[in-house]
Amino acid sequence: MENYKFVGEKILMWYQIHKRILPWRDITDPYKIWVSEVILQQTRVVQGLEYYGRFIERFPDVHTLATADEQEVLKYWQGLGYYSRARNLHAAARSIETHFGGKFPEDYESLLKLKGIGEYTAAAIASFAFNQPCPVVDGNVFRFLSRLFAIDEPIDTSKGKKFFTELAVRLMDRRQAGLFNQAIMEFGALQCVPVSPDCGICTLAPHCLAKMQEKISEFPVKLNKPKIKEVYHYYFLVHSGEFIFLKKREGKGIWQNLYEFPSVESEIPLSFEDLVKCTDFQALFPGNACRPAHDTSLVFKLLIKNYKHVLTHRILYADFYEVSVENTSGVDKYKKIRQSEIGEYPIHRLMQSFMEKINK
Ligand code: SF4
Repeated sequence: MENYKFVGEKILMWYQIHKRILPWRDITDPYKIWVSEVILQQTRVVQGLEYYGRFIERFPDVHTLATADEQEVLKYWQGLGYYSRARNLHAAARSIETHFGGKFPEDYESLLKLKGIGEYTAAAIASFAFNQPCPVVDGNVFRFLSRLFAIDEPIDTSKGKKFFTELAVRLMDRRQAGLFNQAIMEFGALQCVPVSPDCGICTLAPHCLAKMQEKISEFPVKLNKPKIKEVYHYYFLVHSGEFIFLKKREGKGIWQNLYEFPSVESEIPLSFEDLVKCTDFQALFPGNACRPAHDTSLVFKLLIKNYKHVLTHRILYADFYEVSVENTSGVDKYKKIRQSEIGEYPIHRLMQSFMEKINK
């Protein structure tokens, strides 16, 4: 691989000219690098910028984050999705306070022990903040390397990940590991883009095997396509006088500890007649349990039907109903608030979309 040293050199030269100016660039504060990496895991840079700014302003260091209330941390994350990221940030900040005296650990192995920090994030922090020669191989790097060397090893297997990680190590200029990692990621993100890269202006075009073979669209190779599951949610904006009810989602899941309206979930679409027969529905509205499905004494107003919300491995379809009840025994276990207070609670993206629609 000695002959390929020029790859790193060319990428570093390209990076000096083309890199985006971002608040988490050219800094060595591991806390800020960590927050930015976690935000960018599932979020585009443009959207992430705004969240990063607000998050760092409110929680500027590990100590502030560690001593904050989880509900407030989730509130600052609201709209970004994948809330386990925020919960893990919070838990890891507490762990750094307790086990490392509030000082960010510098070595890769210690970073890996923190909640929510996997190999990728540990390598990013270790190399960007502490210039340690840990390769950072994200989707952009996989794509670029697989095309440059026309590698048909699938990137979504442990064997493939190991292969590409070792390749990145061999290309890396160890004296400037952090810079090299940022440069190769940026090169993949801006130059060797997923669809129709502009190879005509690419500094590595004369060496790119995928380009020479006219097979750019065939790389990277993936073995497994994620299975997408469909789930149907039926939400109820339940009024009792001036109050409404919010349910906190318990248990594991991407929306853990976030709030939403009382709901019924189903793996198949339900007509209203079928919905009324569900045990969960009858538990929410017990007065209707003994009546025939069509003879409900309550008036359910359908506000939004079949609202589609796409997650990585799921497609959600949601109906939102509004109903006023006198008998609140089915929803008394939930938080009773005024509708104007809903902004004080962290809600998930689907609920947020609904609130935006009805507020219009
Ligand atoms: S020539 Fe095209 S495919 Fe090859 S590295 Fe450059 S941008 Fe990517």
